[in-house]
Amino acid sequence: MDIEDTLLMIPGPVKVAPRVLRAMSRPMISHRSGEFGAIYSDCAGLLKQFFETKNDVVIMTGSGTVGMDAAVGSVIGKDDKIVTITNGKFGERFTEIGERYGKAVPVNFEWGTPFDLEKIEAALEQGAKAVAMVHNETSVGLTNPAKEVGKLARKHDAVFIVDGISSIGGNEFQTDDWNVDIAITGSQKALAVPPGLAVVSVSPRAEERFLAKSAGYYADLKAHLKSARKSPAQTPFTPAVPLFFALQEALHMASEEGFAARRARTAKQAESVRMAAKALGIELFPKVDELSHYSNTVTAMKMPEGVTDDKLRGGMKKQGVIVSGGQEKLKGKIFRIGTMGVCSSGDILRTIQTLELVLAKEGRLSARGAGVEAADKVLGA
Ligand code: PLP
Repeated sequence: MDIEDTLLMIPGPVKVAPRVLRAMSRPMISHRSGEFGAIYSDCAGLLKQFFETKNDVVIMTGSGTVGMDAAVGSVIGKDDKIVTITNGKFGERFTEIGERYGKAVPVNFEWGTPFDLEKIEAALEQGAKAVAMVHNETSVGLTNPAKEVGKLARKHDAVFIVDGISSIGGNEFQTDDWNVDIAITGSQKALAVPPGLAVVSVSPRAEERFLAKSAGYYADLKAHLKSARKSPAQTPFTPAVPLFFALQEALHMASEEGFAARRARTAKQAESVRMAAKALGIELFPKVDELSHYSNTVTAMKMPEGVTDDKLRGGMKKQGVIVSGGQEKLKGKIFRIGTMGVCSSGDILRTIQTLELVLAKEGRLSARGAGVEAADKVLGA
């Protein structure tokens, strides 16, 4: 299958619009120039709308994890405690980072199950400088209650760090209203830019609690904020300049669509995938409750009985449609379809049609076209 015909429906990196790809082929500029500073400031201003924040944002070169690393390493010293809430792979990453810099106090829930706020509060009552969570747990397709954890963080005077990497720009994410002190996203998700940039917003409250000397050198938020506040805006080290061109173009595309309209479209698209799954008798993986809901950027589904990962994803790949499998303990048990950024209705319908084709080949399809029809009903509504 020609790479140009391949449809990437994974939860990041996601499809990038041609006009964003073209923006990257501009001649190089100095990262210490006024031209670069103007691009940085323009991006930061637009990103604040995605983040729903008045806080400063910094744009770092590196994938989303550099933002997680910077957040924890700028706040947590070796004797500081950080409560890390986990119900999937990326929550566990916060525990690993927390252990690297200080003392992680993990509050673990089974992968794909909702948080129990009482357990989180009990951990915070023991005293912690920070609490970190993942808003949209990509590994299990579940959106966690950031607003409620934010209230607990504030009550117990902890810096609230939220990984919004597969969330910001796709899901609703209200940095300021939810008391998020440090919010993080990555360029290759809902922003629909190639991988390689992390965006981090920092509240004045978080800044007051920064360590005198961050544990990280490259990922030092204090240094990134200092450079971003220069005129023209800068980065402490040489950034991935072409990705800034791409980011600026992608943010203008989002602004033309409207940030709220983008989020509403993304929500509708995920709903269409869920409805298709239902029509095809495929069970959604995560468990939800009144505070935790199915992700609007990635839909995680159980592998249908009797179908292997190789047959399902391998069969779809032969038709040029790439979807994700389960990670670690969920390998072979689930598959995931990412729908964010500039994903179109046509992309979703082709994906569902291809899924139906593969299920039919495996003798697991009862009504051909039911999935496509269910998805189309939502998309056209
Ligand atoms: N957190 C979440 C929720 C993610 O989905 C990902 C990537 O999939 C990461 C963290 C890690 O981001 P990156 O691979 O960009 O470092």
